[in-house]
Amino acid sequence: MSFKDRYSQFRQWQRQPFDYHDSHDHHGCCNCGAESDNNYCPRCGQKAAYGPITWHSVWQGVMDVWGVGTRSLPYTLWQLLWRPGYLIRDYISGKRQVSFPPVKMLVVMAVLVVLVYGLLGMGFEAEVDEETGKNAVQDFLMGDFYNWMENHIHWAVLVSFSMFIVPVWFLFRSAPRLPRHTLPQGFFVQVFIGVQFLLYMLLVTLVFYLIPSLSRNGDEAAGFMVMVVLPLMLWCDYKQLFGYGWWGTLWRIVASVFLAITVAKLLVYISGTFYGMIARDGSLSVRYVLAFVNHLVLLWVALEAVMLVNTKPWREGVAWPRLLWRPLVAAAALSLTTVVCEQLGIENSMSNIIKSMQTMFLPE
Ligand SMILES: [Zn+2]
Repeated sequence: MSFKDRYSQFRQWQRQPFDYHDSHDHHGCCNCGAESDNNYCPRCGQKAAYGPITWHSVWQGVMDVWGVGTRSLPYTLWQLLWRPGYLIRDYISGKRQVSFPPVKMLVVMAVLVVLVYGLLGMGFEAEVDEETGKNAVQDFLMGDFYNWMENHIHWAVLVSFSMFIVPVWFLFRSAPRLPRHTLPQGFFVQVFIGVQFLLYMLLVTLVFYLIPSLSRNGDEAAGFMVMVVLPLMLWCDYKQLFGYGWWGTLWRIVASVFLAITVAKLLVYISGTFYGMIARDGSLSVRYVLAFVNHLVLLWVALEAVMLVNTKPWREGVAWPRLLWRPLVAAAALSLTTVVCEQLGIENSMSNIIKSMQTMFLPE
């Protein structure tokens, strides 16, 4: 078979891996005795494939731990490697049987990751502040949050990817292959991506462990994972799932990451405001409120820009004053709040963006 044939066969499998058909032999049910030609008994629901107990049943019984047949955990993970976007679309459009139950899968994968990390002796070396004994990352709030995340990896993955539900829903609303997807569907999209993230993290970690010249510190593998593997993974997922082209998928992913980070920051500032009030440090609260307003306006600017590109009103000949007045007002509000924050020495969206650009692209 030529390479081209193999590839088209692979593409065929990616789109439609399961072939459902009746067994078409007349049999009596082993459980209730009802006669039928179906794969499942019409009276009691037991599988026709279950005969009397044999050595094969022992194998089936043991494998039941991982789920059996089309929805087994290993086969679902295999699908997440080779047809992730198609699998997710199958599942959320009603084909539940194609997959192991996704939330359960996330928990099992998290347990597996923790186990493997324990076995390999690879841990994340959290930077702990010597005085307080807390995580030294960023500010006091995030430190507590990171500590919690490292101890509850499945919830951490779910919480992190949950930040993407609303941005992805907003950006991919008019997707060619999955128009008008709902927020509950978006939840399952992120659960699947979370599982896939843990799967790749496991593979990347193993590679880092097996190649001696690479660092065995879990942080290095995690860094490679987030900076290289995760963007490629999302690019393939969303292209297969929503059906935009490579470029249309790319800019929407970048925009969704940006929106998700801004939303997460907003949540941090809201909790920071309350934390400040509880700590009876009024000045702290005011700082968080100002930072919150600044980021809210940044979100507004971003949404205006996305709506402009997504709906393309200039194609319908809309005049430019009507096209641009809202984005321009938003940009003016952003400049104003940024200047105020700068003057008062408060963390603001622009200084944050410049800072993260510097850490990303400039050597230390
Ligand atoms: Zn039966």
